[in-house]
Amino acid sequence: IRSEDLVRQYLDRAESLKRLNVFVHLDPERVLDQARAIDAKRRAGEPVGALAGVPVAIKDVLCVTNEPTTCGSRMLKSFRPPYDATVITKLKDAGAILFGKTNMDEFAMGSSTENSAYGPTLNPWDEERIPGGSSGGSAAAVAADLAPVSLGSDTGGSIRQPAAVCGIVGLKPTYGRVSRYGLIAFASSLDQIGPFAHDLADAALLLKVISGHDDRDATSVDQAVPDYTATLDKPPGSLRIGVAREFFGEGLDPEVEAAVREAIRIYEKAGAIIEEVSLPNSKYGVPAYYIVAPAECSSNLARYDGTIFGHRAEDWSPKYPGEENLHPLVRMMMASRSEGFGPEVKRRIMLGTFALSAGYADQYYNQALKVRRLIRNDFDEAFKKVDVILGPTSPSPAFKLGERTADPLAMYLSDIYTITANLAGIPGLSVPCGLTKSNLPIGLQLLAPAFAEENLLRTARVFE
Ligand code: GLN
Repeated sequence: IRSEDLVRQYLDRAESLKRLNVFVHLDPERVLDQARAIDAKRRAGEPVGALAGVPVAIKDVLCVTNEPTTCGSRMLKSFRPPYDATVITKLKDAGAILFGKTNMDEFAMGSSTENSAYGPTLNPWDEERIPGGSSGGSAAAVAADLAPVSLGSDTGGSIRQPAAVCGIVGLKPTYGRVSRYGLIAFASSLDQIGPFAHDLADAALLLKVISGHDDRDATSVDQAVPDYTATLDKPPGSLRIGVAREFFGEGLDPEVEAAVREAIRIYEKAGAIIEEVSLPNSKYGVPAYYIVAPAECSSNLARYDGTIFGHRAEDWSPKYPGEENLHPLVRMMMASRSEGFGPEVKRRIMLGTFALSAGYADQYYNQALKVRRLIRNDFDEAFKKVDVILGPTSPSPAFKLGERTADPLAMYLSDIYTITANLAGIPGLSVPCGLTKSNLPIGLQLLAPAFAEENLLRTARVFE
């Protein structure tokens, strides 16, 4: 099959499923050009790379040279980066076809893709429901077969939770495994890029391509990249699986709980040793995250003020009493930021600015960092006893569009089981483990120590 023919089929499908609102930017000519280039290389007998001709949908948080990169925000509506993110360079080198930029919650803040300035993405399983977030577009792209694989980013669950509610595989690598260069920052100490795929083999291959040390990201770790594809078929020797009481608390949907309990039985039958482990500080995960992440976001997003970066308002004349005393440049920044950012981003900037402000930093930010350390210690202790920790990915299946938009706290709880992995820097994977009675996918989350992605992939194999 020629790449061009394959890509045409995907383009046709994208056209016929436009109502899902998966792509914020998809330029058929650019896509076809890339496919033709691969076909030409093949004809000439030139080497083509591990992902030759494979369409990869890209979350719109990743910089691609001269392609719109909006981060789901009005603020970056006209931004065209002059450079490629490292993962994009790696995809290009592997012969992949960059197949459109996918919709997302603005600046990756959210769990439903409803915070996008470009309207929500619909869940392909039930179009009245959310596809999860913030990488909802990338998850829906794979679930609806608009691309075989895609990339997302995960700061508190944004790969694993959408993978769970869209019925696909999603993997958040260890912090430092994948370079963040060219990933538009939300919370730099938590952000990681990772793959979405239909199955573990595809996820393993994509992970292998994007991983590795990068001089352009000081937090990327210089550690050899295992051949995740080769190790996938090696059964994990004696597998010790931890089940944490804390992952079965209040608010867990009974059908999700039943599917996860069934998964435990499947592992038991397969000969795994199941042990109870304790993660006593995980109850502080959501509160600690909602200090650390907004604090970092308030700093990262300070650059978008209409001077060098971001949308610039046209009208910054004084609107409120007293504004005429402000320097016009300040009024320009205020007007640009109030027009450019949506309500959730503004809420986070305010939370973060407050948490970092003099007199409060010790009470909030520094306290949250201590809690973060305790959460990491809990995992270190647990992983002395077990290889992998298992639990639900998301407390509920896909919820209805609009159901949680008026209640930020309810929305924040969507990540109650995923957030601690980001705080601890460890890898996590979501694999489909069943369906509800109304045919909605349920995801199982597996967590492993830093740099044990191989174990996650191998352990999840039971479900294929
Ligand atoms: N839902 C979480 C938040 O809104 C996590 C988002 C993410 O992982 N990017 O911050």
